[in-house]
Amino acid sequence: MCSLSAVYYDENAAKDLLSLANSGTNRGDESIGFGVRVKDNDEWKYIVTKAMRKDGGISAAYNDMIVALGETEVSMGIAQTRYSTRGKSDKEHAQPFRANVKHDIIVGHNGTLANSRELAKAYRLDCITESDTEVLALLISDSDSVKKGAKKLVKEAKGSYNFTVLDDSNILTAFRDPMGFHPLWYGSGEKGEFYVASESSAFDSLGCSNVTEMKPGEMIQVSENGIEKSYFGGRKISKCVFEPFYFEKPWSKEEIQGNYNFVEDIRYKIGILQGKKEDVFSENGITVPVLDSGAFYAKGFAETTGMPYREAIKKNMGSRIYMDPDIRDPQGLKLSRKEKVNLKHVVIPERVIGKDVYVIDDSIVRSDTSSKITENLRKAKAKKVHWRIAFPMIKYGCIYGLDHSVKKDLIGARLELEEKIAEEINADSVKFLKVEDMPQIFGDINNYCFACASGIYPTPVPKECISAIEL
Ligand code: 5GP
Ligand code: MG
Repeated sequence: MCSLSAVYYDENAAKDLLSLANSGTNRGDESIGFGVRVKDNDEWKYIVTKAMRKDGGISAAYNDMIVALGETEVSMGIAQTRYSTRGKSDKEHAQPFRANVKHDIIVGHNGTLANSRELAKAYRLDCITESDTEVLALLISDSDSVKKGAKKLVKEAKGSYNFTVLDDSNILTAFRDPMGFHPLWYGSGEKGEFYVASESSAFDSLGCSNVTEMKPGEMIQVSENGIEKSYFGGRKISKCVFEPFYFEKPWSKEEIQGNYNFVEDIRYKIGILQGKKEDVFSENGITVPVLDSGAFYAKGFAETTGMPYREAIKKNMGSRIYMDPDIRDPQGLKLSRKEKVNLKHVVIPERVIGKDVYVIDDSIVRSDTSSKITENLRKAKAKKVHWRIAFPMIKYGCIYGLDHSVKKDLIGARLELEEKIAEEINADSVKFLKVEDMPQIFGDINNYCFACASGIYPTPVPKECISAIEL
């Protein structure tokens, strides 16, 4: 996943962009980039600065931007924090992208354009990188206006493509794709500033009012003439259900059947549901979350089953290791995923010795986390290790922006049965909630994308994404 942010007409545009981008780093922080448009001696000019996390990340990109701005004040801009799905995790593929075919624009994108190669060919776009965002940027820049570019995308794109654009007519555009896979919000500041961010929690520190979720297919354009909204609807809505399960901040809001809930409350409710499905109560049992995302599920599970909540596995490092394709040990050797899990999650032996440990996590993808933690719990002499997983078994690759795009990497696709997964990770049992359980939490689940669990893709699967569906 990635995050998008934008500000329009704001004395503190640079600082506010920094705040918004910083709060988007839960969605990806392999790289961070800013694109701003400034008036310099009556001339408009663009500045784009990007930095990889390993090269200083947000502070490096921000500092470069401030240095490049010199005395010039910035009044509008966009920012993007990246979690790579298409294209390498390097500076060349970092966002935002600048494109200049018919119009000079800067584009930030969240999602994956599943048929980007097909589109690049159809529109004869001169791509330099493997990035789907470059395709998106070139396609919009090659159109007579951003709106016309969006129209082409709505007609032909398969995938998810929330975007923000700064263009050479001094207009800021924010667009949420018509199927609404990923969230996008806006709000206004005290002095009439306009802000955009991927999640509602990003606005908390800006003192915004009217914080509102954009509708699927909604385009908002802000310019000297005010705010203009247009709609590209008519598509089936298909919100990525993994957003509330994993990506979104616990204190962000998520709409369910017309009501907005804190994500942490949804997770807590899911934990209660999972607890209710438990038929054996162990006197000796403890409920242990895999932090951070496991915590609210575990609270619900513990309260329902009566097996007390214990943080017996602590998190050593701040970052989401899964998201870090390039973490190395001090000798510069690339670490395996399991070695990274070992660095990140630490079992406290005194808390688990002789206990029936119910470990709660949001999901199992490849099983690196669960198999390594099971090994460490056994070393610490836990009596039993049971995994209870909130998200249904992931059996299909995601083509809309998650990093599980290759079916053969997924333990659920290979083994299909809970018993076999338990055996492979050496646990006493593993249970997942099921897609059939989800209406109890989300109501009408037809508005959600469960493709990674159900194999039902809400768009056609382009040929270039075949690894998502074939083992
Ligand atoms: P596994 O180790 O089984 O491959 O992945 C499961 C763990 O990674 C869980 O602890 C979950 O919180 C996290 N996780 C699952 N899916 C994703 C994802 O798409 N992106 C990131 N960053 N983390 C994920
Ligand atoms: Mg986790």
